[in-house]
Amino acid sequence: MTGFQRIAVLGSTGSIGESTLDVIARHPDRLGVYALSAYSRMERLAEQAVATGAAVVVVPSDDARARFLAAWPAAARQPDVRVGSEALAEVAAAPECTTVMAAIVGAAGLPAALAAARSGKRVLLANKEALVAAGALFMAAVRDAGAELLPIDSEHNAIFQCLPHGGRAGAPQAPARGVRKLILTASGGPFRRHDPADLENVTPEQACAHPNWSMGRKISVDSATMLNKGLEVIEAHWLFAMPADRIEVVIHPQSVVHSMVEYDDGSVLAQLGQPDMRTPISYGLGFPERLESGVGPLDLTRWGRLDFEKPDFERFPCLDLSFQALRAGQAACITLNAANEVAVAAFLEGRLPYTWIPRVISAALEWQAGLSSVTLAGLDDVLALDVAVRRFAGDLGTA
Ligand code: NAD
Ligand code: MG
Repeated sequence: MTGFQRIAVLGSTGSIGESTLDVIARHPDRLGVYALSAYSRMERLAEQAVATGAAVVVVPSDDARARFLAAWPAAARQPDVRVGSEALAEVAAAPECTTVMAAIVGAAGLPAALAAARSGKRVLLANKEALVAAGALFMAAVRDAGAELLPIDSEHNAIFQCLPHGGRAGAPQAPARGVRKLILTASGGPFRRHDPADLENVTPEQACAHPNWSMGRKISVDSATMLNKGLEVIEAHWLFAMPADRIEVVIHPQSVVHSMVEYDDGSVLAQLGQPDMRTPISYGLGFPERLESGVGPLDLTRWGRLDFEKPDFERFPCLDLSFQALRAGQAACITLNAANEVAVAAFLEGRLPYTWIPRVISAALEWQAGLSSVTLAGLDDVLALDVAVRRFAGDLGTA
């Protein structure tokens, strides 16, 4: 994209949001903030709005608005404070905005991400749950509106970098020519070597202690169960129009190789770097150019060796459930994601044992498979099934 980018950072107080603001601040000549949004931590949102000079902020409720205004320093020029999820989608589609960082966690981020695609923005997509719930709808919107779609998830950003793209970032309808398969790397999370029998009493703090990446709590739990890698397989299927049987997962505990593309001639291209999300974020912001990101050089001699191993589907049942959902279709993918969001929230609040997360997902998938017929023609249908799954999963004793 040539010219100055005016960016809406949706989910600005989160891990990806903070990293995005860090990169933007390094390039005042070409990047600026148009809007910010957060669901909680209004004091932090106010600090960010002062620092970036955001014209608009979006908060979830009137109460949050009052807290934001109470935290606002009298001397600074106040931004336009908008309330609610419809305002999020409006901001994402606003003509004042060129670029949207979709960094809200969960399916809650879907309507705004879709609005950004439908209005032809440059969309930096971190919110993988949006693609899992509505991949076909989202990719069609990118295509129809001529939006630019840059994957921010480190694996997909790596794959994008290793694929031929001719300087364009859109929505492919078929796998790139000459590509045999995509290889997603996974760290294996904090429980890679644990005996599954010892996981019953795992605490949220243990599950969130990721060995390599510093991330929000939901994705950290997803990394421990490897449901995160399952969501990423589904994400890769949509982003790169790749069938499930040509997407492979490999455990790579050092998280230095961010993912790989295998070609028909036997070549394998990989993208390497430090595990720091500012690299994929700056790639998305600068595309097709490279921007300074604040990430230091990768010293491979410090690592000495890089390890790779096959994932154990019995140890990580969530990975198996994800492949099953992808093969079963969109309703199953919506179910997988929504049931997982409910189960992970219950686990983080101490209401559900860690080992019950795959059980809740599995029960929800069985329930969904037994439903007579589900029409998924548009966003409303997707959100209606998402709500129904949450109700079912909640009734299992997780809410
Ligand atoms: P986080 O929990 O740190 O931040 C989430 C942000 O979304 C916060 O600003 C929060 O206020 C906002 N939010 C939460 N619930 C909301 C709701 N219902 N409505 C509106 N806003 C809401 O999460 P994160 O780690 O930054 O992850 C964000 C997204 O990026 C997720 O989809 C995650 O899977 C993806 N992602 C994150 C990383 C990472 O390194 N953190 C890497 C790859 C992909
Ligand atoms: Mg990832």
